[in-house]
Amino acid sequence: MTYDPTNIFGKILRGELPAHKVYEDDTALVMMDIFPQSRGHALVIPKAASRNLLDADPAALAAVIPLVQRVAKAAKTATGADGVRVAQFNEAAAGQTVFHLHFHIIPVYDGIALGTHAGGGRADDAELIALAKDIAAAL
Ligand code: AMP
Repeated sequence: MTYDPTNIFGKILRGELPAHKVYEDDTALVMMDIFPQSRGHALVIPKAASRNLLDADPAALAAVIPLVQRVAKAAKTATGADGVRVAQFNEAAAGQTVFHLHFHIIPVYDGIALGTHAGGGRADDAELIALAKDIAAAL
């Protein structure tokens, strides 16, 4: 399987589609998931082109994991969550729906079940803007 640059995250990285951005640098973009599994669900997207973990450059993986940790900590702090799930899917059989590597940062709250992966409703934009700001402030 090869990387297809017309995927939705490729378009967001090129500025062709909007996103609720939390953070951006030369190597990665962090944004809110618009169909979140919980309040504060964010995505860490390396800018280097790869479909997923399987074809990624190990150097790009090494560079992004510290940011995954930072965002996980910031999302937990900003939302008051009790825990954080970090998830990553490789190919459709494993649940992947957007074929540009990304890591899910999903705050988890005691007593509240997570929504379905890539199958829930679209979140309110005003709420996503506020969450992006709060997580950015906690980075
Ligand atoms: P995966 O199934 O692991 O490829 O995850 C893709 C994620 O992207 C899902 O959680 C979707 O809710 C999310 N998603 C799809 N389109 C957008 C978009 N335009 N902006 C933000 N998140 C999106």
